[in-house]
Amino acid sequence: MHVVPLPALADNYIWLLHDDDGHAIVVDPGEAAPVEEALYARKLKLRAILLTHHHDDHIGGAAALRAAHGAPVYAPDDERITVATHRVHDGDTLELAKPAARLQIIAVPGHTLSHIVYAGEGVLLCGDTLFSLGCGRLFEGTPAQMLSSLQRLASLPGNLLVCCGHEYTAANGRFAQTVEPDNTALQQRLDDVARLRAKRQPSVPATLSSELACNPFLRVDSEAVIDWCRRHGAANDDPVARFAALRSAKDVFRA
Ligand code: ZN
Ligand code: FE
Repeated sequence: MHVVPLPALADNYIWLLHDDDGHAIVVDPGEAAPVEEALYARKLKLRAILLTHHHDDHIGGAAALRAAHGAPVYAPDDERITVATHRVHDGDTLELAKPAARLQIIAVPGHTLSHIVYAGEGVLLCGDTLFSLGCGRLFEGTPAQMLSSLQRLASLPGNLLVCCGHEYTAANGRFAQTVEPDNTALQQRLDDVARLRAKRQPSVPATLSSELACNPFLRVDSEAVIDWCRRHGAANDDPVARFAALRSAKDVFRA
């Protein structure tokens, strides 16, 4: 499967997955135009639309794409997503024929309550739950919910490519570095990100293993994060408190 990030809106990525026979899946189309251009340029037929959560920057183009291509729209069971044709739930396996794909559905409440991710075929399509070097804001869920969602993702195979919804990596990295200034894997990743962004290339996807080594929100049990929390007033013996402290510090962080 080919995995292509399509830049959209201000800083979104729409993910295009396609095989060698011209069959394509698109994930979180916040707008239709970049998808139409990519389908045309690569001579692809759109076979399915996958949505992770109800925010407009992830679903805004789905109705137009559905109308133009007649592709089914898979989405979490949330009435705010009226464009859905198929509802998928935690524990489901989504099986598509063209392109051939088996994707596991995992519920990840936190950014929103009905947010889901799709995992399989070498990719983790994670919307606004896990970002490279960061995680989504808590608009609807609690820190405990988001931490438990991220921990479920952390337990997936490390070679999965983390296909997230936004190009936030450089800004996330500046915060991550204040938390773990001595993390050499993070330093290396930031060098790579700077090089990619200087060429206007996407900084994503990175592997889940790389995120486990570099992303502070997946590292609440690491020595460095525990130490950071000790200096920032969070209860050290409670991973949820550490996660909550990290998330609120990031909310007000200005690099
Ligand atoms: Zn969102
Ligand atoms: Fe978003």
